[in-house]
Parts: sequence; structure tokens; C-alpha cells
Amino acid sequence: MQMILGEPVLRCQNNAALFAGGDARRSPAKVGVAAQADFDKNSHIFFFADQIQLTAAHAEIARNNGQALLLQIGGSGGFACGACFLLARHRMRHMNEKPVVPVAVPVDVPVANPPSLSTSPSLTPALYVVATPIGNLGDITLRALETLRGVDLVACEDTRHAKRLLDHYGVRVPTLALHQHNENAAAEKLIRLLLEGKRIALISDAGTPGVSDPGARTVAAVRAAGCRIVPLPGASAAITALCASGVVDEHFLFVGFLPAKVGARRTAITALDSVNAALVFYEAPHRVLETVRDLAELLQPEREIIIARELTKLFEQIERLPLPQAFAWLEADANHQRGEFVLIISAPPVKNSSELEVETERVLTTLLAELPVKQAVKLATEITGQPKNALYARALALKSET
Ligand code: SAM
Repeated sequence: MQMILGEPVLRCQNNAALFAGGDARRSPAKVGVAAQADFDKNSHIFFFADQIQLTAAHAEIARNNGQALLLQIGGSGGFACGACFLLARHRMRHMNEKPVVPVAVPVDVPVANPPSLSTSPSLTPALYVVATPIGNLGDITLRALETLRGVDLVACEDTRHAKRLLDHYGVRVPTLALHQHNENAAAEKLIRLLLEGKRIALISDAGTPGVSDPGARTVAAVRAAGCRIVPLPGASAAITALCASGVVDEHFLFVGFLPAKVGARRTAITALDSVNAALVFYEAPHRVLETVRDLAELLQPEREIIIARELTKLFEQIERLPLPQAFAWLEADANHQRGEFVLIISAPPVKNSSELEVETERVLTTLLAELPVKQAVKLATEITGQPKNALYARALALKSET
């Protein structure tokens, strides 16, 4: 990549803050040093503030998921004479936030020296289920890129969104929209093409297809039609959050999105409290406050919450708090409520044996009031983890007492 070094001329103090790791007090020189270090690490995908390749007069650069930056080169004399960075809507909203990841910006133009990727001659007819980045365009595997380059068609949730990723990596393959409103019809189309011997990739807007995204029904239909499915693992927000959460519980339950309606959401949360596992939720920014309020109200207060927002992006934040403090933390700063969220709740506290007996008795009595003995015992065994025979004996005793 061609490098043109010079003093950055940032026309707006706030922009300087963004390009200086969120700290407007950092000098341009420091910005440059940080930039150089980051560029060295990521030269195949990153541009940085004072190391811009001035080959395009205008280049729309997208860091991720529609978070577009508009980079404009101002003045005719090149960067040393002046460059201005016009930061688009999303960035402006985050103006007071301190980025916690290096401020290198993956850009949405073909890279000068992409990793050498040959189209795999061995790509056989199949549906390739390909995970894509959840924010940072660098988070894609070499095998994913090789596959996307080698297929005949890419089925994607949003063709314009997919184009940004495909263009970024110089992938020139036709796309077909496959989203929640046309999934059945699109899947039929894919099956016809697969039966003709075509190689098709399935991607979603971000992360792993079928994980809180369209794709699962397509895969089911394609499997039922006897066509081959090839999974290509990669990013998923749930696993990304989990691996940084510090949660040490043996089990976790991926819940995904809770119901949007208040009553259904509260019922779902109440039912989850007895599950002996950490809970992993996805949530949208406009609902995060009310969801966290309900979680804090309905789950045991000894539990902890990990609020993971904007993972792999500029304003990534991973906060671990006692659950009862989470609502106040979100409310304390409007920035805390912005972006995309994974919420993880640590598993319920381990109870001592006398507490367990009380809890088991409560669960069994509640279920017996509504269900026949056999069913109540089966459910109580699943919920409490207590031995079935003991619960059956206790259920019969409780029945005879009533
Ligand atoms: N298929 C994706 C996956 O494998 O993670 C999930 C898609 S789902 C429609 C989108 C939700 O995932 C968001 O609302 C948010 O809860 C979570 N998510 C996606 N990207 C994220 C990110 N960068 N940081 C935090 N959460 C994210």
C-alpha cells in the first residue's frame, strides 16, 4: 500500500478525538505513532488517519454494519496540504465515547494487497453456510473468502449490505436475497440450483446464518432435499461476548432475543431463573433498558450481568456488574444504551442442601397443583436436577396429604 505521511489536518476537534483513540488531547504525533503500529499489524485491511492512500478522491468507508464514514480528500495538494474527515451519522452520535479498540478503520474499498486467495478448484456443489464478521471486516476466515470467491451465487439477507463485504474483498459473484419474508420461496430456488450442480454460499447480515438470523429454515429444506450442506465457522456475537465475559459457569443457554411484548418477556424471564446455566441474550438498543430492568427485577439478585456492546467495533465495551446495578449503569450515560448488545447473566448461585430441599419442595408442589404426578415429577426432575425416584416418592406423599 502506498503511504503518504504528513501532518494530519483535522478540521474538527471532535474528529481529532475519534482518530486519537477518543482523546482529543492526544497530539497528532501520538496519533501517528498509534496509527503506524496498528497499520503494521493490519496493513491488508486498515487505513489510518494520517496514512491514507490518496488514490481515490472520494471513498465511502464502512467500518461495519452500515456504520459508514465518509472520507473526503480536501485540497489538491495531497494530504500534507489538508484532508478533512467527514464523519457520518453513527460516528457523530458516539462523539463523547472513548473507543477502547485501536482507531484503525477498515475501509470499504478493495484493498491494495489482499491476502492471496486462489479460487478453490475443489469447491463441489453444496450449500456453504458462511459466517461473516459482526463488525470488524477483518474477522472473516480465509476459507470463507475462498469459498465466497468460488461459488456461483451468494444468498444473503440484504444484497446491498452483502455487497459492502463482497466489494471490500473483491468478490464478484451474483447475489440473491434470502430474508425472513421470502425464506421459503428463496430456499426452493436454491434447491433447484443445487440440484443443477451449482455451488451456493449462504450468509446473513452479520455473524453466523441461522443464529437469530434467517438461514435455519433454508438449511432444513436443503437437507430435506438431499443436498449437501457445508458449514464454515466464524464470528457469532454470543460466543464473542462469552469468551470475554469471564463467566466460569459450566453451562450456558443461548436464548437470543426475548419476546418484544412486556408480558411474554416477563414470563420468559421468570421461567429462565431456575435454569442452572448462564443465560445469553441478544438485544436491540431501543429495548435494552426495559429488558435489563425486567432481568434485574425477575432474576435472583446474586446473579451478575455482562453487558457487551459494539463487539469488535470502535466503541466496544464489555462491562460486568451485579445485576441489580445494571439499570443504573445503562441510565448513567446515553452512550451506554447505543449500539448492538449481548447480555449475559451468570448462572444462579449454588444453593446449600437445606435451601435445595425447600426449593425442590416448592417446585414439586407448584407442579402437582397443575399436572398429574408423572408429568409433575418429570418436570421437577428436569428443573431441580434431583433424583427422579426421590421426587416420585415425595410427590406421592404430598398427594396423600391433600
Ligand atoms: N447471526 C448473528 C450472530 O451470529 O451473532 C446475530 C444476528 S442478530 C439479527 C443481531 C443481534 O446480534 C444484535 O441485535 C445484537 O444483539 C447481536 N450482535 C450482533 N453484532 C453484535 C456486536 N458487534 N456487538 C454486540 N452484539 C451484537
